[in-house]
Amino acid sequence: MLRMRTRTTAVCFAVRRTVCLLQELAGGGRCTPGRAPLPRSVPLLFRRSLFAEPLRTATRMAAHSMASRALRNPYRDYDGSAACSQGLFDQHGRLTAEFVGRLRSKISELLFHMENGLKSADPRDCSSYTGWAGIALLYLHLHSVFGESSFLQRALDYVTRSLQCLTRRTVTFLCGDAGPLAVAAVVHRRLGMSQEAEECVSRLIKYHQGVVKGSGNLPDELLYGRVGYLYSLVFVNQQFGEEKIPMQYIQQICEAVLASGEGLSGKLHKQAQSPLLFQWYQEYYVGAAHGLAGIYYYLMQPDLGVGGDRLQRLVRPSVDYVRQLKFPSGNYPPCIGDSRDLLVHWCHGAPGVIYMLLQAYKVFGTDGYLADALQCGEVVWQWGLLQKGYGLCHGAAGNAYTFLALYRATRDPRHLYRACMFADWCMDYGIHGCRTPDTPFSLFEGMAGTIYFLADLMQPHKAKFPAFEI
Ligand SMILES: [Zn+2]
Repeated sequence: MLRMRTRTTAVCFAVRRTVCLLQELAGGGRCTPGRAPLPRSVPLLFRRSLFAEPLRTATRMAAHSMASRALRNPYRDYDGSAACSQGLFDQHGRLTAEFVGRLRSKISELLFHMENGLKSADPRDCSSYTGWAGIALLYLHLHSVFGESSFLQRALDYVTRSLQCLTRRTVTFLCGDAGPLAVAAVVHRRLGMSQEAEECVSRLIKYHQGVVKGSGNLPDELLYGRVGYLYSLVFVNQQFGEEKIPMQYIQQICEAVLASGEGLSGKLHKQAQSPLLFQWYQEYYVGAAHGLAGIYYYLMQPDLGVGGDRLQRLVRPSVDYVRQLKFPSGNYPPCIGDSRDLLVHWCHGAPGVIYMLLQAYKVFGTDGYLADALQCGEVVWQWGLLQKGYGLCHGAAGNAYTFLALYRATRDPRHLYRACMFADWCMDYGIHGCRTPDTPFSLFEGMAGTIYFLADLMQPHKAKFPAFEI
């Protein structure tokens, strides 16, 4: 894996990225580049033309395809009766002591397994996505939820390990050095180590100019691009509870993202359809991890400086362009022009697009956005228990955040109930015959992510998809 990394070129990444998504579509692989094994050849079937009219696959066919990647949802749906949520939560959405007890005990059990499993993890993976910073972020979260100081100490141990093996190449929260630095800043601050915290913040800010300029052909998406760095700055400010990093820095990144999106749309003469457009390795991704929906989610945040005129003129029609890519099932394609309705993941599909839709509903107030978001919920309820397992990026825990987002937006107990059912499924960790991820104990692919979700469910009004939602 490391050998492959050192040989990597931009072109190679592009091929590998395509291969990676092909593997996703084939039911295997993962959604981060630089890790998927190279095949002997890249099939041509994946070639698409931008803005090609999506083939409207028959719903039955689509359902069949999604079904091949999901396990049957064994739970009966919420019926509105008190009996349905009995033993889970009360009318105010407070979890019952009994259910909290189950969650707590499963969290302890899984933490024990995770710690054991991490003994054989890649010692040089610093990242939040699959490496040490992700484990540190989990412990930081557990400290927030449970208030136990031992969790904060563990967070310090892991983030220290992460800082010792930074990529010195990637700048984002999830896959680069900004994640370890931002998490370290917060851990140090909570421990009262203010000098160390300041040092981490100043190291984090040093990347700012390069990100604004787009040095090294920096993309705009979440995992490897500008908004992935932007998240780190917002994370620090939220966790510090003050404007530790001036808003001006964050706004400058948004400006650069807007300019990049306008530039590409103009270059392709697509302003009338989508005034903003973004690509990553020559593909027009749609989902939260690499695509349009993830970027627009940030551009619609009221505090990040994209004013009313540009929200209406640039962002809103671009959001509406993504909306019309919706399949008859209610799910979304991984890329523009891809007609295969297969993936129900946070990284590709409805479980990631929903955050854009709910934010659009909040900002623009049009019911259609909420209706589409509710449809995402239906897709996830039906097809969201994945053969890929229990992780955040492409697993049941990540998909369950769909329900928590809907619950926060609507306060409809149906969504909290569904989140509890997905948690119940996750608590039977390992018994469903799911595939084992490449990094089985990591935050975004493995057990750490499942634990993060189970802990977040204990405070459903505050729950947020980690390293993404703000
Ligand atoms: Zn994924």
